[in-house]
Amino acid sequence: MTDTTKFKAWRVEESNGEYAGSEQTLSVSDLPDNEVLIKVTHSSLNYKDALSASGNKGVTREFPHTPGIDAAGEVVKASGGPLSPGDAVLVTGYDLGMNTDGGFGEYIRVPAAWCVPMPSGWDARTAMIYGTAGLTAGLCVKKLLTMGAAPEQGKVVVSGASGAVGSVAVEILAGLGFDVVAVSGKAEHADSLKKLGATEVLGRETFESTKKPMLKPVFANGIDTVGGAPLAEMLKQILPGGSVSCCGLVAGLQLETTVLPFILRGNNLLGIDSVEILLSEKQLIWGRLSGEWACPATEASARDIVRAELDSALSAFLKGQSSGKIVLDHSR
Ligand code: NDP
Repeated sequence: MTDTTKFKAWRVEESNGEYAGSEQTLSVSDLPDNEVLIKVTHSSLNYKDALSASGNKGVTREFPHTPGIDAAGEVVKASGGPLSPGDAVLVTGYDLGMNTDGGFGEYIRVPAAWCVPMPSGWDARTAMIYGTAGLTAGLCVKKLLTMGAAPEQGKVVVSGASGAVGSVAVEILAGLGFDVVAVSGKAEHADSLKKLGATEVLGRETFESTKKPMLKPVFANGIDTVGGAPLAEMLKQILPGGSVSCCGLVAGLQLETTVLPFILRGNNLLGIDSVEILLSEKQLIWGRLSGEWACPATEASARDIVRAELDSALSAFLKGQSSGKIVLDHSR
């Protein structure tokens, strides 16, 4: 392994304001000068990768760029820090795949402080079935539990349920004994959501914008992965004392709400960030996902793709048509 070693990466280039990705050959010397060089065997697809690949400057400022906010593989070289060549690691978040070349390439070079030793019992593919989406779902559940959420309080609702974050959230909550109501715009996914453990599946229209300031409270707690108007509608339907973990924006950045859920029902809106939090917090969630929060149905239904399929798979995210977990396999 030298700095002239060549590898393949799915690279996005800008031409006259248009963005297109294609497989290209790079050298290790093209990677940023960081402490740990990793041979990536698997990555995971996320909504944020689709934003990066389509030229969203809030995610990626400069092109050409290799997206991929998640990566798992083996350490090839490490200077400083506790890692050694041969160690199995995973990296999610921080600047990976944003302005640091990411997991859609066969190699990444990142700070040692971004690397998590592979949880026991997991291989790289399993880690990437969960990826940032699984980590985020775990953080959403953990925050609800910290606020005292318990199955006996009543139903917990999950929006964007067929998506990468939502589907893992449904399975974790069901595994913990919660009565999970999945909200999905994809009627054809009702059966698969029930296989993940949802007891009820509601259409997305349930959370379409109403003019009413409050609605009948029916859910003890919630996880919202979509933001915008559906989050405002969810907040109107939470029982007194209940909480909503909020992590996403696919339905909109704006949140038009009143103070009524907070001052009449004592509800809590809990923000979730999976990117910049301490590595120790990430490790805690990885430990749970590889242990008592494992999601066997998600693992069994994950789909593997190769680099040539990235374009269409990422487009589906932007159209709200993606579902479940998708793993990028660099070995095929
Ligand atoms: P996906 O695209 O996999 O899932 C999003 C789901 O939301 C879709 O599958 C769809 O599910 C639903 N949806 C899509 N468009 C709309 C719409 N216009 N209105 C209502 N529902 C819609 O994305 P991810 O699960 O990977 O990510 C979800 C969100 O979470 C994204 O905004 C992402 O950026 C954010 N995120 C945030 C993180 C953080 O650290 N805060 C980390 C990871 C993700 P259905 O058809 O079932 O309704």
